[in-house]
Amino acid sequence: MMQVEEALARLTERVPRKPARDLPLHQALGRLLAEPVVSTRQVPPLDNASMDGFAVRSVDTQRPPVRLAVVATTYAGDPPAANMGPGQAVRIMTGAPMPQGGADAVVRVEDTEPGAQGAAGRQSVSIRRSVHPGQFVRQAGEDIQEGTTVLSAGAVVNPARLGLLASIGVATVPVVQRPRVAILATGDELVQLGEQPGPGQIFGSNSHALAGLVWEAGGVPVDHGAVADELDATRAALRRAAGADLLITTGGVSMGEKDWVRVALDAEGAQLDFWKVAVRPGKPAAFGRLGTTRLFCLAGNPVSCMVGFYQWVRPVLRLMLGDPRPHLPVITAHCDESIAKRPGRAWLERVVLQHQPDGGVLARRTGNQSSGVLTSMARAHGLLLLALESTGVQKGQPVRVMVLDWSFLNGTEPGYGW
Ligand code: AMP
Ligand code: MG
Repeated sequence: MMQVEEALARLTERVPRKPARDLPLHQALGRLLAEPVVSTRQVPPLDNASMDGFAVRSVDTQRPPVRLAVVATTYAGDPPAANMGPGQAVRIMTGAPMPQGGADAVVRVEDTEPGAQGAAGRQSVSIRRSVHPGQFVRQAGEDIQEGTTVLSAGAVVNPARLGLLASIGVATVPVVQRPRVAILATGDELVQLGEQPGPGQIFGSNSHALAGLVWEAGGVPVDHGAVADELDATRAALRRAAGADLLITTGGVSMGEKDWVRVALDAEGAQLDFWKVAVRPGKPAAFGRLGTTRLFCLAGNPVSCMVGFYQWVRPVLRLMLGDPRPHLPVITAHCDESIAKRPGRAWLERVVLQHQPDGGVLARRTGNQSSGVLTSMARAHGLLLLALESTGVQKGQPVRVMVLDWSFLNGTEPGYGW
């Protein structure tokens, strides 16, 4: 039997990234950048005031109180006020450009008093506190300098990055195209939602769970429904599904008498490797290619199917998206129960996670770990990883958990704790 690491290494070898496409910025949320973004501008574009007040030459304020003549007023959006001489000030609002002619600081409004009307009707201001050069001034380019790489290829466009891109005038972003993932269920027993299951029939659930997994991972699912356990029908369905970037089949891939998927794929000329990976759940799995489509034949049991997706399909999908970190995070938690295990296979156990007041995380199994029990998957925050040769863990021991759902860290009350 093959070990998980080797299977993963083989699957993730030389996965080609999907090509780029340009998207308007407002459609780019959650997408991965296909190229680094280099700024063609500096931000802010000009020195400007960080407070409402008076732009001054800081040397003029060193012996407060001092009276300065107010020669202009500048609002955000105005061009810089023209020359301001020694002994003068420009009334300035937050975000307005600093005047030309030697102003190097801003005195906040609250550190001034209106002065008397001077000669020739000029206003003056009384400065009550000295400022040093640069005080309350945002320097041109202090956030971004022209020519700097602000985001690297593979970065996910999150809300802050949407703002950042807009701040440098980027209206169109090159993102990586989403892989199209065909999903084909198999099984005579499956009925679609809305149909009435006869005796012995069940609702097909894998296609729905897989579509969710594909969306969540950044792909576009294409549902090819469920095919009966017949060779010709399976072949025809596979032909229809081919052409996607990835094709996931579920069920019909083990040793049962009606397990036609491998036979049908062979007949369709797929290159297929059947691996028995030393892992539970999801031991029997087949991988390969049908033309240019990457194939993942996952087990039919709903939990095996989902865990198989997380283990085998997701990293490949993320590599196609150009993700420099294609693997799910693994944290250390403390096991809240003892688990006995037979060596010989790696186990992935569904666990609920609980954040402790001391900052630690407790992991407890979700109950029945049978690979058909979806409720225990639906409750799980993660998969506890028990290595091939492990004989289990004792309550309280540290364990590794692949996190699928971070909502266990969310609060019911503000938890700032300051
Ligand atoms: P198989 O791998 O085809 O032998 O299926 C293993 C188990 O998974 C059987 O109990 C099937 O009924 C079940 N199963 C297969 N496909 C699905 C599906 N799409 N949705 C729900 N259960 C399924
Ligand atoms: Mg089946």
